[in-house]
Amino acid sequence: MVAGDYHGTLGYSKTSFCKLMLRALRLRPGRPARVLRGHPWAFLGEIDLTLGTPPADGDHVELTDLKGRCLGAGLWNGRSQIAWRRYSRRPIPLDATLLEDLIKSALKRREGKLVARLVWSEADSLPGLVVDRFHDLLSVQTLTLGMEQRLPLILEILQRHLRPREIVLKNDAATRKLEGMDAYVRTVSGKPLEPSWMEVGGVQWRVDLLGGQKTGLYLDQIEQHAHVAQWAKGRRVLDTFCNQGGFGLACARAGATSVLGLDSSEEAIQAAQAAATRNQLAARFEVANVFDWFTEHREEVFDLIILDPPPFARSKDSVEGALRGYKELNLRALRLLAPGGILATYSCSHRVTEEMYLEVIEAAAADARREAIVLERTSQPADHPVLVNFPESRYLKGFLIEIRA
Ligand code: SAH
Repeated sequence: MVAGDYHGTLGYSKTSFCKLMLRALRLRPGRPARVLRGHPWAFLGEIDLTLGTPPADGDHVELTDLKGRCLGAGLWNGRSQIAWRRYSRRPIPLDATLLEDLIKSALKRREGKLVARLVWSEADSLPGLVVDRFHDLLSVQTLTLGMEQRLPLILEILQRHLRPREIVLKNDAATRKLEGMDAYVRTVSGKPLEPSWMEVGGVQWRVDLLGGQKTGLYLDQIEQHAHVAQWAKGRRVLDTFCNQGGFGLACARAGATSVLGLDSSEEAIQAAQAAATRNQLAARFEVANVFDWFTEHREEVFDLIILDPPPFARSKDSVEGALRGYKELNLRALRLLAPGGILATYSCSHRVTEEMYLEVIEAAAADARREAIVLERTSQPADHPVLVNFPESRYLKGFLIEIRA
């Protein structure tokens, strides 16, 4: 798609087009705004609001630098600290045509995938829109007011392109409050939707889009489940922060001698147990706080341990504490590994970089006095693409570590 498409369709000349179509806001002087270096957000305090009445919340708005040069078009919400989120580098409206183009591009990036994140917010130039596919079901989140206002258009486009059996609006994320929106979860049809069994990676999962955590399954680790399971044959496996047991059940299927999965969520553990039964896989799942469990089980021995905790560093100030938490977990895990054992360890905090996480592992190995080698570095899957200049989108990192005998 080129700019000309729009100019042509609408019959405006290139110069008059943006003035006719989009209201423009300007940055305030003296602020080193990240948007000037390519970041897709502008904060409320970075924008000059003395130049007339502010736009309506949810509107598409052009943003310019101090010299009036276009920084792109974004969704405006004056109620949020992140007041402007870019969806295009050009000053064009986020109307039905552009929404469809952007959604089509996002779908193309995941072509052929039946269980995947189809749209991922800023990374797909659709700030605040998340669409997950579970075979014939879709789960949709609108996390910005601008996307919420465009929801009827978005649903029409998704229905036309994907023909899903049902779409669940999973709008219970806490971040919606920051945009001035209420929480709700419901089906688009208004009918109830029972949990259903679906195959993902050779295992049947109980997918509960109305009730499950996040959007039903942790899509960003599905590829890792199968990958780590390659090391599982003949090993005693500990799957910590297991949620529905994605790693553990893949390992059981691959021939692990035993599998123990731990998660603090009772609902997740019940789902993991149900999946083990359904797939006739021998695996044990327990409700436990992983930190406490490690303290109470210092004598156990495993050959493969998975550490996949939730994000510890949600704010800038919490990074130090997060690193301490990560180090403690990795240390505890290393101590329970038999010689030749493998640790699959992940961090999904975008503020903790890959290098920082490797330093955590180094510190843990030093304290545990174990010889560790990095077999592999892993990252987020292709359906969670990284938008360059948007570090928030580069969040998942992992290491496969072998402990020398
Ligand atoms: N490994 C999973 C995803 C894990 S998400 C997969 O591959 O699908 C993080 C999980 O950690 C969530 O299920 C959450 O319930 C759990 N959790 C958070 N804090 C915990 C704690 N202190 N102890 C145990 N589980 C915890």
